[in-house]
Amino acid sequence: MREKKGHTRCEEIERSMLQRKSKIVCPICGEELHEDNLPDVKSVVTENLYYLGGVVIVNSSVWLLVDFWHEFTRGGVTLDNPHPLTAVLMGEFDGQGGCIHFEIKEIRVRR
Ligand SMILES: [Zn+2]
Repeated sequence: MREKKGHTRCEEIERSMLQRKSKIVCPICGEELHEDNLPDVKSVVTENLYYLGGVVIVNSSVWLLVDFWHEFTRGGVTLDNPHPLTAVLMGEFDGQGGCIHFEIKEIRVRR
């Protein structure tokens, strides 16, 4: 039986995501959204879902809407006009609540 440690698993997922990530474009300004500016496993699952404690999602694929801002250019320079976006994410959780799949499906203009 395999050891399951949520955080370690998430870091592995994140690494594999970065390798196969295709270009994600901002629906407002049309510029590429740099990975540092996108919600990731750490910010969504580790620092939000897991941070609450006491409740975990198990044996499920869930869709998540995550609000964030397009605020940096590729070089990390702050934009003059940051704008609000919503990421449509799909996360899959195993029987222990570990995140085994994490994917950005779409970036929307925040409503
Ligand atoms: Zn933008």
